Amino acid sequence: MQEFQHYIAGRFSDGVRQFDSLDPSTGSVWARMPDAGLEGVNEAVDAAERAFFDAEWAGMLPTQRGKLLYRLADLIGENAERLAELETKDTGKIIRETSAQIAYVAEYYRYYAGLADKIEGAHLPIDKPDMEVWLRREPIGVVAAIVPWNSQLFLSAVKIGPALAAGCTVVLKASEEGPAPLLEFARIFDQAGFPKGVLNVITGGAEVGATLTSHPKVVHVAFTGGPETARHIVRNSAENLASTSLELGGKSPFIVFEDADIDSAVNAQVSGIFAATGQSCVAGSRLLVQASIKDVFLARIKEKAEAVVIGAPNDMATEVGPLCTERQRETALLLIERSLAQGASLITGGAPLEGDGYYFPPTILDCSDARHADSLTQEFFGPVLSVVCFETEAEAVELANKTQFGLASGVFTQNLTRAHRMIRAIRSGVVWVNTYRAVSPIAPFGGHGLSGHGREGGLQAALDYTKVKTVWLRTSDEPIPDPFVMR
Ligand code: NAD
Repeated sequence: MQEFQHYIAGRFSDGVRQFDSLDPSTGSVWARMPDAGLEGVNEAVDAAERAFFDAEWAGMLPTQRGKLLYRLADLIGENAERLAELETKDTGKIIRETSAQIAYVAEYYRYYAGLADKIEGAHLPIDKPDMEVWLRREPIGVVAAIVPWNSQLFLSAVKIGPALAAGCTVVLKASEEGPAPLLEFARIFDQAGFPKGVLNVITGGAEVGATLTSHPKVVHVAFTGGPETARHIVRNSAENLASTSLELGGKSPFIVFEDADIDSAVNAQVSGIFAATGQSCVAGSRLLVQASIKDVFLARIKEKAEAVVIGAPNDMATEVGPLCTERQRETALLLIERSLAQGASLITGGAPLEGDGYYFPPTILDCSDARHADSLTQEFFGPVLSVVCFETEAEAVELANKTQFGLASGVFTQNLTRAHRMIRAIRSGVVWVNTYRAVSPIAPFGGHGLSGHGREGGLQAALDYTKVKTVWLRTSDEPIPDPFVMR
């Protein structure tokens, strides 16, 4: 049994109590995790506030902040194998994915390391002769970062990287489901040489999250998770008036026209929905396929889905591992049953696998005759693809936009002018054309509607962790003339 500690003010300690962490591939307890409790939240926020105002961090040159972030990126690279193993063990995400993703997480820190000394203010061409006016960009303060269990190292990097580059301090709450990789990350962070309290890493459930996000010293909440939790956070922000960035779920359309490169579209769709066992916010979970190619395309997807290697997440040969929790598996089953009752038909999969662990096979539902089925509107966060066919481009657009989410979309066509029309017409924060699931630290990412607001990645994300201070400097040596006339 492994035991983990949280990280507050540069020290590792136990929480107010401990809770069990389960191995999703067996369902048995493998580690004990620290619950921060209310005391831990308060300690962590106090530590972050002290560090924010302390000269060691507040007075540090941006270039030096960048150097520390570069060092952190190198340390992540050196420890990538261990981090990947822990993420796989605690969340069930397969080792092929965690290894590749964590190597790339280091690139996010490098990108923001490079940006640290490029967050510039501005000089204003002001309309008064004896004034110099300029804008300083200053860090906003203590940031609360909250992440779900899937891809925690990645989802925290897109918050910690820009926040520290801008000079903020952070309290990161790891998900109570699978927090091991972030608690281990804290140990790596500790070696990078940042002042104590600049990053604090705690874990615990909804109560810890709610206390953190409504804490009076927190000025911004960077949240990734589900829409229901986001509503709690926004309501709580009435307490501290913190700003929020919300990266929520999706029901992303994957649109295939009859002129598409079918081989590419098949592979992109299979990875778009079944990678990460479907537990991905950008999962291409609604396949909209042109009627003329529906049978051929579905046959190809079905064949691939049934050939997927399901197995232990720590086996390099595994392509689909277990879901993270029993609850996820029950949700997937419930939604499938409901959708079948609403008229959808099952093409493959549909029931959990027998035996230990939270395994669920790739599942495909044909909803062409059940266009109001729940599986077309509700996020599964599991390996379930819902299919609808369309006749015309206009119908494809209408179906694609028939959702309250607006995170991502994919369009497969070789017709250039159609691709441009689709890019304009689809309401989503990211559009991938003839590709899917590509990400980069250089490219902003985020959604609208039920998928949230704010963008992560790119330059703007670092600017979002700053506030503008307007400075007026009078350049005249003459006394101020009339005290009652505003200038
Ligand atoms: P969740 O909303 O239940 O939990 C996310 C985090 O919020 C956890 O750390 C949890 O402890 C915390 N939390 C729970 N209640 C809280 C409260 N009242 N106040 C503050 N924090 C609270 O989400 P989940 O089920 O763990 O994750 C799945 C969801 O995350 C899906 O909807 C998925 O689409 C979304 N997601 C989005 C992205 C993205 O980038 N857009 C990426 C990954 C996952």
